[in-house]
Amino acid sequence: MFTKILIANRGEIACRVAATARRLAIQTVAVYSDADAGAKHVAACDEAIHIGGSAPKDSYLRWEKIIAAAKATGAQAIHPGYGFLSENEEFAQACAKAGLVFIGPPASAIQAMGLKAESKQLMEKAGVPLVPGYHGSDQDPALLQREADAIGYPVLIKASAGGGGKGMRAVDKAEDFAAALASCKREAINSFGDDAVLVEKYVLRPRHIEIQVFGDTHGNYVYLFERDCSVQRRHQKVLEEAPAPGMTPELRARMGQAAVEAARAVKYVGAGTVEFIVEQPGGYAHPEQMKFYFMEMNTRLQVEHPVTEAITGQDLVEWQLRVASGEPLPLQQDQLRIHGHAIEARICAENPDNNFLPATGTLHVYGLPMCTTFERADDAVRVDSGVRQGDSISPFYDSMVAKLIVHGATREQALARMDTALAQTHIVGLTTNVQFLRHVTTSASFAQAQLDTALIPRESAVLFKQEKVGLQMATAAMVAQTLVSEHDQATKADAGGWIDPWAQRDGWRSHGASHREFMLEFHGEPHTAVFTRLHGGGLQLTVDGNTETLHYTALSGGALDVRYGDLRSTLHLYKNGEVAHVFTGHGATQIVAIDALAHAGETHAEVGRLTAPMPGKVVSFAVKAGDVVKKGQALAVMEAMKMEHTIAAPADGTVAELLFAPGDQVTEGAELLKLTTVAAS
Ligand code: ADP
Ligand code: ADP
Ligand code: MG
Repeated sequence: MFTKILIANRGEIACRVAATARRLAIQTVAVYSDADAGAKHVAACDEAIHIGGSAPKDSYLRWEKIIAAAKATGAQAIHPGYGFLSENEEFAQACAKAGLVFIGPPASAIQAMGLKAESKQLMEKAGVPLVPGYHGSDQDPALLQREADAIGYPVLIKASAGGGGKGMRAVDKAEDFAAALASCKREAINSFGDDAVLVEKYVLRPRHIEIQVFGDTHGNYVYLFERDCSVQRRHQKVLEEAPAPGMTPELRARMGQAAVEAARAVKYVGAGTVEFIVEQPGGYAHPEQMKFYFMEMNTRLQVEHPVTEAITGQDLVEWQLRVASGEPLPLQQDQLRIHGHAIEARICAENPDNNFLPATGTLHVYGLPMCTTFERADDAVRVDSGVRQGDSISPFYDSMVAKLIVHGATREQALARMDTALAQTHIVGLTTNVQFLRHVTTSASFAQAQLDTALIPRESAVLFKQEKVGLQMATAAMVAQTLVSEHDQATKADAGGWIDPWAQRDGWRSHGASHREFMLEFHGEPHTAVFTRLHGGGLQLTVDGNTETLHYTALSGGALDVRYGDLRSTLHLYKNGEVAHVFTGHGATQIVAIDALAHAGETHAEVGRLTAPMPGKVVSFAVKAGDVVKKGQALAVMEAMKMEHTIAAPADGTVAELLFAPGDQVTEGAELLKLTTVAAS
């Protein structure tokens, strides 16, 4: 076994690999970029080497620097994590040349599975079922159109070199094929530097079920069962679970065997995932009729590997390290068992209500559920996270903040644990999908395991723009918290420290704060609240003219029990400037208590300016100077944090000028184009 490894990655996966290495008494070397100088993964390792600038191309993708760091520190092997260099065959080769072990498959296996079209040709030979389609090298558009017509619509055009949900176009009818092909090829050349595509049948309401495989250098192969990753947005995974609901032992064995054959065909070594698209011709009620087709193989550890660890009780990073050091697989197929059910939720810095726009910011509050970490693979609640309170989510890397993994004896128990764990996840400082994840896990489709990749659009009515707390409770919570913290301050003042009440702008009055008014903003709408302390000591609160009594009790751990009229909630509230973030058992919300003095002299933002919502790259403009546009019309596409964002016209108008060209890097707030809007009359 190795005594020292270098981890060529960052964030949660780097921390996760470091934890297993520590348990096995293996020394670890971290690498880091400028932006990550103070990052958690640096602290998690025994040594750390700075390798360059914040952009991945200046650091985490510079493999000559990484190899030099491994040599300089005396590491024997490199763990690539996922993303970055994990599926780069040149890097795997360069490691071998430098006398370092690449903890992953042989470069030849990475290469064989690197392109979707070529890997499908290989799989066809190995007898693995494929989605009906064309994956040849002749890219003549007329030929591709004939193939699409022969497959029958709808079809899916896919960039062969694609990944991360990009470079795909679904086409409903023959007339639309040529345009979709051209646009898919454009995206493919821009994103992957290779415009080869394949065309396949677009499976309707499919499930994404993948098999975890493992091979060793002695020719042994096993599969560690399946994961269902059907809940997706933009063809990217949101929730993953194992085992797949409705899976029969017979189908599991067939899919497992097919995945092992796929691995064997490329002489695979280490951890890999064979992804299948699964058709459900009998609908949700007849999972035994599921038909599976090979989609692609990911030649690395997968983001969602913890659900497999939870149900098998195995540590897959330990397996990787053992296999890479030449040991045989720790267990054989008949020694592997499934225990219970596990679900993973990807907590991302993004706004689901704004088309999942990624967000950046500082984690002012980062409260996680009661859990253990990945050091024991079979825990009921596990959080894998690469950040700590006070850290920032920067625009340089992807938007994943943490992964929450729950395990239970049954799916129902795991679901209940997930809901509780998400309710205990308190993040303040940046927008996240935590509440959205709660809505998905509690939606009828997910709760009843009616899974397919259209789950999110199908359940959209209960997933987006939900308000579970309400103005009344949010206001009551904000007022109660204000009273509690004032009482705390007054107690402190009595105890010696003098706090000048007149220096505070919060309406405090020395005669007992008997009456005060609040100007509020809730979901962008103004509201008013009036708080009154009655002579008998009772409290009254009037929200938009409706008066009820207010009671509150401060509980341990910063929680508050708030009763307002008939409403009652146990909650946590954190203030970040003027914004109060309220977390209750059934949901979270925000309410703004406007500090009028702080806003004196402010002007409103200009309209008609079209700025980059975050730093990133301009992908394309859909308009040119002089074009007349309608409100909501797409004007430009930007890419940031591995996602594309469409910038739409805020109002009807005329494009005056484009200020950048496709491919340009832009900073946050940079004006992308000038629009002369039609004067409001
Ligand atoms: P990537 O490399 O981006 O992960 P995949 O080929 O794995 O690309 O596909 C990503 C997702 O796109 C799948 O999980 C599935 O939701 C959807 N998808 C892929 N192929 C098909 C298909 N033939 N029919 C329907 N959906 C598909
Ligand atoms: P997996 O296939 O293992 O589930 P993904 O393909 O989703 O993993 O992602 C692999 C790596 O790339 C991870 O680091 C993931 O966070 C990152 N990644 C890929 N696509 C995106 C994306 N569109 N947005 C954010 N991160 C992404
Ligand atoms: Mg995939």
